[in-house]
Amino acid sequence: MAAWNAQSVRKDFVLLENTDRVYFDNAATSQKPQAVLDATREFYEKYNANVLRGLYPLSVEATERYEQARQTVRQFIHAACPEEIIFTRNTTESMNLVAYSYGMANLKAGDEIVVSILEHHSNLLPWQMVSKATGAKLVFLECEPDGTISAEQMDAAFSEHTKLVAVTQVSNVLGCVNDIPTLVKRAHDCGAVILVDAAQSAPHMAIDVQQLGVDFLAFSGHKMLAPMGIGVLYGKRELLEAMPPFLTGGEMIESVSRYDAIYAELPHKFEAGTVNAAGAVGLAAAIQYLNTLGMENVHRAEQELTAYLIKGMQSIPHVHLLGSARPDNHTGIASFTVDRVHPHDISEILSSDGIDIRAGHHCAQPLHQHLGIPSTARASVMFYNTVAEVDRFLESVANVRKRMGFGDE
Ligand code: PMP
Repeated sequence: MAAWNAQSVRKDFVLLENTDRVYFDNAATSQKPQAVLDATREFYEKYNANVLRGLYPLSVEATERYEQARQTVRQFIHAACPEEIIFTRNTTESMNLVAYSYGMANLKAGDEIVVSILEHHSNLLPWQMVSKATGAKLVFLECEPDGTISAEQMDAAFSEHTKLVAVTQVSNVLGCVNDIPTLVKRAHDCGAVILVDAAQSAPHMAIDVQQLGVDFLAFSGHKMLAPMGIGVLYGKRELLEAMPPFLTGGEMIESVSRYDAIYAELPHKFEAGTVNAAGAVGLAAAIQYLNTLGMENVHRAEQELTAYLIKGMQSIPHVHLLGSARPDNHTGIASFTVDRVHPHDISEILSSDGIDIRAGHHCAQPLHQHLGIPSTARASVMFYNTVAEVDRFLESVANVRKRMGFGDE
């Protein structure tokens, strides 16, 4: 039993405390607790210097804090060593790093890249680029309307030509959880490497990269209580060591001569230029905050709230929930449509009731095309959201059609 609840943690979130609005756009970005704001501010107030450069105490201290943050991330996802943790700006940059560095160097015509139809554009467009540049073919793992990828769909996508698999752990539209252990096994059985997009899973569930056996895993700090502009790429050491740098310039070299350079060891080979040290420190504070709550407790609280939300929506006439009918396969996400009401109108009406949700294609146009729906409204909750907020949301959704002038039919 957790020693906290949504009500008791809300005092840690200044923005939530100072508003009457209901923030249900957590899948886009999370709110930040005071501990994260303090850690970021403290970095600038007490330790600000460029890391990895100066030999003077301030720079040494800034570097220590940056490298401690890397250790905190390593422990959070159970990576074997800090060299396997690369700091980036966000999930998008992490996945582009794999595409441009690993993909461009290792893929060629005749090879196949497998992506799922559930992917966010940031785990699709980099592979479209690699496909065009190398001649490797892009192959889609299809999914059922509830997001499930069946064994037959896997059989159809994987082959001896599969060299790279890029899949999301949790869909940002359906909230469903992909069976990563099976996908890892299928990828490895083909001799392929697998990149997992953990943007929507890392904030909500415990992740053990070694247990999962993934080769690469990407996530963003800002969706898990940390500041914007800091992200992570996990990669298996032997893979990262063999990869060429993605960005080149300062801080990623051992030595440089006129026409050549020797690159730095991991992880710095992949961290060109001045890094976001305050962001990394903020991410470490966010992880410490989550660890104090306990990821199992966070997961359980969010599952309970999501179940309440989903069941409530299922009982409102004219509301159609996307994805699984099972609340436990929604990871805080409820995408929906309302008969004859455009999602932008749903969002406007909810906004006028003080409820912030998202409407559109959620950077997943191929998935919407696959489902035959141009756009959806999406509510996404986190552990700091309350049952009372869900009640306000449900009441507003129940009134959408009336507000649009439809009768009770
Ligand atoms: N993948 C998924 C599944 C996402 O939901 C998002 C963010 N909406 C991203 C990738 C991209 O994250 P970022 O914008 O932080 O790079």
